[in-house]
Amino acid sequence: SCVLKAFYKDFSLDVSFSVQAGELACIIGPSGCGKSTSLQLIAGLLPLHSGSLVLNGKDLSQTPVHQRQIAMVFQDYALFPHMSVEQNIAYPLKLRKLSKTKRAERINRLLSLVALEGYQKRRSQELSGGERQRVALARALASQPQLLLLDEPLSALDAKLRKHLREEIRRIHDETGITTIYVTHDQEEALSIADRIIVMNEGKVMQEGPGEAIYSNPANLFVATFMGEGN
Ligand code: ATP
Ligand code: MG
Repeated sequence: SCVLKAFYKDFSLDVSFSVQAGELACIIGPSGCGKSTSLQLIAGLLPLHSGSLVLNGKDLSQTPVHQRQIAMVFQDYALFPHMSVEQNIAYPLKLRKLSKTKRAERINRLLSLVALEGYQKRRSQELSGGERQRVALARALASQPQLLLLDEPLSALDAKLRKHLREEIRRIHDETGITTIYVTHDQEEALSIADRIIVMNEGKVMQEGPGEAIYSNPANLFVATFMGEGN
């Protein structure tokens, strides 16, 4: 499980939530409510001013970023444009010093997981937006993280592709079983793929629980309005 209790004074963020091991949880809320900041605190890209982060029973609040076994996919494609697909995916694998054969096997498996078989030699700057996000996802999974953080990975894509890829993300989650926190501002997206939803507003958690419970039994007017509107 992942339990975050975080206070970040610069943006007056004060959140507390937990995600069970193997769950796909969505954080939703309006722009500026602190979704990305929460993920950055979990990943260790921002320091916790006070609070704690416990991942599978281990307190990580003082653990450096690269030792946390947490992978993150960002909204804008953070691929190395001049590198091929396989070089992009192998970036974290290289650090783990796998043999060439083992590495190729892993890349094949990751590419088939994200439905990009045969893409090894393609340059990432030649890929479409959806393909790039699939590569970014494969690269995140390559490090075999204990926790996968996805920060609006589909927001730059058109509605149809977004809908297709979110189902893919659910399928990949079911196949890998990796605990995942998925940030979106789209409540319909959250309701369709999440095991658990965390609703945020103005730096605070308004409600957390299974989507149906939140939708049918909102804790306050903000949650009712936000869950009800098609934004
Ligand atoms: P969006 O849906 O637009 O991505 P978000 O929920 O991810 O929004 P955050 O990026 O976490 O929101 O921002 C939370 C608050 O912190 C906002 O009020 C924002 O203006 C502020 N903030 C974020 N980054 C910085 C920064 N580098 N310096 C100062 N304030 C910041
Ligand atoms: Mg954000």
